[in-house]
Amino acid sequence: MDCLFCKIAAGEIPSNKLYEDDTLLAFYDIDPQAPLHFLVIPKRHIGSAAKLTEEDAPLLGHIYAVIANLCRELGVDESGYRVVTNVGTDGGQSVRHLHFHVLAKRGLAWPPG
Ligand code: 5GP
Ligand code: ZN
Repeated sequence: MDCLFCKIAAGEIPSNKLYEDDTLLAFYDIDPQAPLHFLVIPKRHIGSAAKLTEEDAPLLGHIYAVIANLCRELGVDESGYRVVTNVGTDGGQSVRHLHFHVLAKRGLAWPPG
């Protein structure tokens, strides 16, 4: 499958990695929308959050635990951050492999645009 984030997960396309283990990868976004902006992706191809099932509960728990640890290490756990996953066209998803944006180090508006 011709999927950019599968290629990044496999190391075929380089990325600026923050954290990696057997199931997931965290790397800096190439076009940051905040002073701190990284992505967390499962290594397994999942098209979007719309494809998740009950069986993915451990993976999702792991993803959020890794995000919490990274944000603590990066010193933004007190100041706060946003975790967001875009789904489909109206959701603004441009890469069709599940990813969680983590944005921090500036005040983020709500509602989003
Ligand atoms: P989406 O728009 O699908 O929610 O988010 C995709 C994100 O992937 C965007 O924020 C975009 O900047 C980022 N992105 C796209 N291509 C690359 C790439 O080759 N490397 C990295 N590190 N980020 C990318
Ligand atoms: Zn993929």
